[in-house]
Amino acid sequence: MSKRTYSTDGNVRGDCGHAHKTIYAAYLCAQRDGDGCQRQGGYSDRTRLVVRQGQLEVEPTPDEFDEWENGCPEQYHADRDAR
Ligand SMILES: [Zn+2]
Repeated sequence: MSKRTYSTDGNVRGDCGHAHKTIYAAYLCAQRDGDGCQRQGGYSDRTRLVVRQGQLEVEPTPDEFDEWENGCPEQYHADRDAR
C-alpha cells in the first residue's frame, strides 16, 4: 500500500504541487502561500486539503480533516514568532 501524501489546493492558486508527508507540513505550506500573497496585496485561496494515496486522490479521513481544520495553531504560532 502506498503512502498517503498531502497537498493544498485552491481554485485560483491551484495545487501547491508538493507531496507533503504530514498535514502540518501542508498547512505550513498553505500559510506560506498566504503570506506571500498578502505581501502582494492579495490572499491565497489554497484552503482545501488534498489527500493522495500514491497518484490517486482520496477523501480525507475525519481525523485528517480535523487536523487540517485545526491547523496545529499553537505550533504554527511558535514557528512564526521564531521567524
Ligand atoms: Zn506544498
